[in-house]
Amino acid sequence: MRRRDLLVSTGLAVPGVFAAATTSGAERQARPVGVAMVGLGSYARLVMERTRGLPQIVVTGLVSGDRERATPLARDYGIPADAVYTYANFDRLAQDERIDAVHICLPVGLHAQFAEQALNAGKHVICEKPLAASSTQARRLARLAVERSRVLMPAYRAWFSPHVQEVRRRVVEAVHGPLVAIDAHKGFRMELPAGNWRFDPKLAGGGCLYDIGVYSVQLCRWLGGGVPKQVMAVTGHDASRPQAIEDHVAFTFEFETGVIATGSASWRHRLQNRLHVATRDSWMCLDPATPVIGERLTVGLERPNRIEELGLPVTDQLPRMYQHFADCIAGRARPQVSAEDAIDDLRVMEAIYASAQQRRAVSVM
Ligand code: NDP
Repeated sequence: MRRRDLLVSTGLAVPGVFAAATTSGAERQARPVGVAMVGLGSYARLVMERTRGLPQIVVTGLVSGDRERATPLARDYGIPADAVYTYANFDRLAQDERIDAVHICLPVGLHAQFAEQALNAGKHVICEKPLAASSTQARRLARLAVERSRVLMPAYRAWFSPHVQEVRRRVVEAVHGPLVAIDAHKGFRMELPAGNWRFDPKLAGGGCLYDIGVYSVQLCRWLGGGVPKQVMAVTGHDASRPQAIEDHVAFTFEFETGVIATGSASWRHRLQNRLHVATRDSWMCLDPATPVIGERLTVGLERPNRIEELGLPVTDQLPRMYQHFADCIAGRARPQVSAEDAIDDLRVMEAIYASAQQRRAVSVM
């Protein structure tokens, strides 16, 4: 494993897609960054709850198509009624100086449209996963962010897990010998009703791969060293859903370094969420791997032969992610996971779909 591979994979060596708000950095330090939540579904409300009270970043606006949901939420968070927007008057955010940034928590198929509008309105953007419905859309957003000198950060909360970072450190530093293999899986029984946006190809962009497989893709890439040279995949489909919405996917990545990663995602079985990493002298097991909070890391060593559970502190990823976003806006940091990473994840996921459809190994385009 070469250190440079991991730097590239996390965008740290790709300055082209980072756009810091350099002109407004000093001003940003004077007051907390104001964020508008866009789409007030279950995840947006969880983020609001978990990031409440942070000194550097505060939710100061809401964007929703549902006034009955937005009004009590605004009251609860002390957001004035005139900072509650709809999708139809979203462009007015441009004039609202209380709002520096937006967090896009919409169905995936709407990410690019609203992220683009926000960047054009001069706002910084943190956007839920995956960044867009395609790598083409995501590239366009990254270019726009650079043109507008705004931060565009994928909301990849798992990066902010100390457990994930500990596994990554041990891999990068070859603490237990060279990396051999990675296996990442995430799945649960999908019980949302048929009309949910996750089953509409236009709104979802993909099926369980886009919804939760993106975590397995991220973990394999963060540890495996960037973009795999070859991808093989199989998807499974529930006949009651559109063909574009797979409910099971399994994939294999072959990295330039020789490391082989396997990953999968499923909406078919009870909750599972794990990462298994094999190095020459150890195995590392993160289970659960990517919950919002509550990861557990166990390491099996060969010499001396023992199994250790690492009692790392229980840390909520969402405040850490928000804090980092605020630091990027203030010019104190560069996004540790960049738009370029999110573009690469989409390229890899597109290769997974292509491989499954063509029933052969494919290169990442
Ligand atoms: P929900 O269905 O709960 O919420 C989506 C919200 O988007 C709706 O409540 C609605 O808000 C708004 N919306 C606008 N247009 C539409 C439309 N045409 N159809 C449906 N909803 C619409 O989804 P989630 O909160 O679970 O997911 C939202 C985003 O967050 C997705 O990108 C998802 O991938 C991501 N996510 C990330 C997680 C993570 O751990 N990082 C976990 C879960 C989801 P309103 O009524 O206010 O207009």
